[in-house]
Amino acid sequence: MSAAARARRIDAGLEILVLEKGQTISYGACGLPYFIEGRVRDPGELIVYTPEYFKKERNITVRTGAPVGAITHARREVALAGGERIHYDRLVIATGARPDASAIAGADQPHVFRLQTLADAIGLKAYLADKRPRSAVVVGAGYIGLEAADALRRNGLAVTVVDGGNCLLRRDDPELTGRLMKHLARFGVETRLGVRVRSIEEIPADLVLLATGLKSNAEIAFEAGVARGVTGAIGVDERMQTNLGGVYAAGDCAETMHLVTGRPAYLPLGTTANKMGRVAGANAAGARERFAGVVGTCIFGLFGMGVAMTGLSVEQARREGLAPVSARIDARTHARFFGGRPTYVELVADQGTGRLLGGTVIGEQGVAGRIDVIATALQARMKADEFERLDLAYSPPFATTWDPLLIAAQQLVGKL
Ligand SMILES: Cc1cc2nc3c(=O)[nH]c(=O)nc-3n(C[C@H](O)[C@H](O)[C@H](O)COP(=O)(O)OP(=O)(O)OC[C@H]3O[C@@H](n4cnc5c(N)ncnc54)[C@H](O)[C@@H]3O)c2cc1C
Repeated sequence: MSAAARARRIDAGLEILVLEKGQTISYGACGLPYFIEGRVRDPGELIVYTPEYFKKERNITVRTGAPVGAITHARREVALAGGERIHYDRLVIATGARPDASAIAGADQPHVFRLQTLADAIGLKAYLADKRPRSAVVVGAGYIGLEAADALRRNGLAVTVVDGGNCLLRRDDPELTGRLMKHLARFGVETRLGVRVRSIEEIPADLVLLATGLKSNAEIAFEAGVARGVTGAIGVDERMQTNLGGVYAAGDCAETMHLVTGRPAYLPLGTTANKMGRVAGANAAGARERFAGVVGTCIFGLFGMGVAMTGLSVEQARREGLAPVSARIDARTHARFFGGRPTYVELVADQGTGRLLGGTVIGEQGVAGRIDVIATALQARMKADEFERLDLAYSPPFATTWDPLLIAAQQLVGKL
């Protein structure tokens, strides 16, 4: 929908058609855990725009219940599953991601859920109300799994999170993993790492939630000759164009450029999807816009705590052949007499060049603002000593004289 809306802005006369296999468009999947939790009461609150809105306000036709079964680029045609063929001059593929169904036997049982679509969330919520399950196992300790664990725990269930890897959030950061496991335990959530689930029978529980990761949902594109990138998702250039002329891809079905590593990465996030969509739509409508990439920033809430990271962890940097140095500090967000709370900050930089490579912020307050400063610095390719001299705001209700970011930066510069 971002692509369609942007294309309309570029060219008021364009005929724009959106084909959606489901019944709803433009809803915030990011709000699904809060619907499970109960904070969002009506799933309708998660729907941002309707097809009627797009028709009336933007002159964009949206057909729901219209699954595309095939693309024939030589004829510039898409075929709906029912057989209808529709011509295009330019095509934007934005088919999203789907759960990576890495063979778990018995996953089709009625007590096994996923949290990917609005329909998944409505089904899960109904199950919670009807069956009143008392225990849940969440498989997968990515941010969706952890958000789901939080939401299920707040519904009164005994929750265990299991993951095949040895870290949370696939971040390969033992310090982050340790801190979050302690936080989860404080709220009664058990975490078991290094447990690769092969069958639902191995994890007896009243409810199982599979959150084992996502993969690009782009088979119709690949069958049509669209090339995969190195990550396995659709490969695109800075203009979101695929290897096929006039065919663009955006969002969770496509890969993007990681601006810290300089290599393509698959980081399916809503904020990125919207930016990619905007650029794909603009270029499909004849403009020349570019989206350079991301630094891998993400944030989520876990039992009252903000957890945020950007760029690379020490281990990830090491795997990139860099020589990472890190500084970790525990500080207070702002003056104690104003209710300042503890916060944890880690900054990572490259020993050779001094360039900032990544950061992590955990705490109850100010997490988004601080991670955004680090993300901005990464995108500007700032060095640790430049970061140390940033002119950040200070007043007792908001920060400490030396902001926690600057304290971490001072230590980092000392180590470099
Ligand atoms: C529980 C959860 C929490 C999240 N929280 C966050 C968050 O806090 N922050 C963040 O940045 N991101 C978050 N995300 C990720 C974010 O929701 C996605 O990155 C974003 O929705 C991707 O947008 P998209 O348009 O690429 O794909 P989607 O939103 O998945 O849309 C793809 C659409 O294509 C349709 N489609 C697929 N195949 C076909 C076909 N053949 N024919 C017709 N239609 C088709 C699908 O029905 C779907 O509607 C979250 C995701 C989930 C599941």
